[in-house]
Amino acid sequence: MQSIIEQVQAALGGHAGLALGYGLIAVLACQLVLLLWSTLMRLRHEHTQQRLDRERLETLVRAAKYRYKEAQEVVQGWNGYRKFTVTQKSCECEDVYSFYLMPHDRKPLPPFKPGQYLTFSLDIPGRDKPVVRCYSLSDSPTRPDCYRVTIKREKAPPERPGAPPGVASGYFSDYVKEGDLLNVKAPTGHFFLDLSKTTPICLLAGGVGLTPMLSMAKAVAESGSRREVWLFFGCRSGNEHMLREDLEELRRHDNIRVLVCYSRPAQTDVRGEDYDLAGRVTVELLKEKLPSNNYEFFMCGNGAFMMALNDGLEAWGVPEKDIHYEAFGPATVKKRAAPVVAAVTAGPACKVTFAKSGKELEWKPALANLLDFALEQGVRIESGCRAGSCGACSVAIKSGDVDYVKAPDAAPEGGSCLTCICRPKGDLVLDA
Ligand SMILES: Cc1cc2nc3c(=O)[nH]c(=O)nc-3n(C[C@H](O)[C@H](O)[C@H](O)COP(=O)(O)OP(=O)(O)OC[C@H]3O[C@@H](n4cnc5c(N)ncnc54)[C@H](O)[C@@H]3O)c2cc1C
Repeated sequence: MQSIIEQVQAALGGHAGLALGYGLIAVLACQLVLLLWSTLMRLRHEHTQQRLDRERLETLVRAAKYRYKEAQEVVQGWNGYRKFTVTQKSCECEDVYSFYLMPHDRKPLPPFKPGQYLTFSLDIPGRDKPVVRCYSLSDSPTRPDCYRVTIKREKAPPERPGAPPGVASGYFSDYVKEGDLLNVKAPTGHFFLDLSKTTPICLLAGGVGLTPMLSMAKAVAESGSRREVWLFFGCRSGNEHMLREDLEELRRHDNIRVLVCYSRPAQTDVRGEDYDLAGRVTVELLKEKLPSNNYEFFMCGNGAFMMALNDGLEAWGVPEKDIHYEAFGPATVKKRAAPVVAAVTAGPACKVTFAKSGKELEWKPALANLLDFALEQGVRIESGCRAGSCGACSVAIKSGDVDYVKAPDAAPEGGSCLTCICRPKGDLVLDA
């Protein structure tokens, strides 16, 4: 080794050491520059990486917030009206149609509780403002892609044959077609079946009052629960026997008993094939078929149907807490409204004036609300849900004040009242 260095020194002469020194310095300087360069590059890369990470995080937060909002909408429904497309319209029986509705924005649908309803705001030609009506969801709540409502055309009442037929139900029956867009509020309503319970239930349906009952029975069937269900459906004859396939499907579940009663079977209706029993759904029938009165009863039908069954069930010893009902129209089980409103009826008798109709009337404390009072006195007030939710029955108060039987779901406009859930506090003048 020594000899090699000596040989190089000899070959390079006296300046060799110096040259070697410069060479080493140059190499070191190059290494230093390279080190600095790579450090700079690394810092720059790290900085870019951090910026990208931050941007990615911000995107993720935004996406999470969006998904949270969407999930909330799916769980809780949506605010106000949302556009739905009618994807299918099918005739169930004479004057009854089912409408299948999919959200126009194709976003997921919130589940609903069996028994709840949708509120529609309909732009009907010839009407100066939208007509608001509610329709119960008639299918199982486990269908995630579409909702179904089943609507019966309302004819003029028998005691007023000259009255115009139902506005909204006529519009649905005659004009609404597949592909049309409708404005719909999210499912709501306090009349529903609690699927977390296992108590046996008895569902009593009269006519189109079958819709919420069917949803309840289908919900039990599709949940796989062994809960005992009895469904009594009453209609006049085969012409009014709606949603047959769904009812037949329910019979396949051995925990669900379906009994279809025709009050006036046609000659062509075959007992055992089209219907089970001739006659109405009465408490006597329930006593004959049910092993006991130990059921939670849900009913929906016209006024006479519900009043008779409610009275009969109470007389049979069914506690009031186990009787639930939904009224589609002015017909309520009024007796039950009385204790609720007793607290607010105290006070002197009062006068209610319907200014536009020119009627000044003595208030009837036995009535549950101002809407029923108005309709009974022949004053037309629009109505929808009859539960203080849709706002259709809102009327301006010209003077006086009202008491609410239950808190409104959404506060009415200032100076107005929701007539379906309020009563006069004293003399009252309404702009109706
Ligand atoms: C929570 C809830 C759920 C519901 N679910 C369903 C459902 O699933 N299916 C269903 O079919 N319905 C359902 N309804 C009823 C529905 O909301 C409507 O009330 C029904 O369709 C009638 O509305 P309409 O606009 O056709 O009739 P309206 O125009 O409101 O008329 C109602 C009745 O009054 C008569 N009438 C009109 N003008 C006069 C007058 N001047 N004098 C006397 N009588 C007159 C009409 O002939 C008709 O018989 C439900 C209601 C509620 C509150």
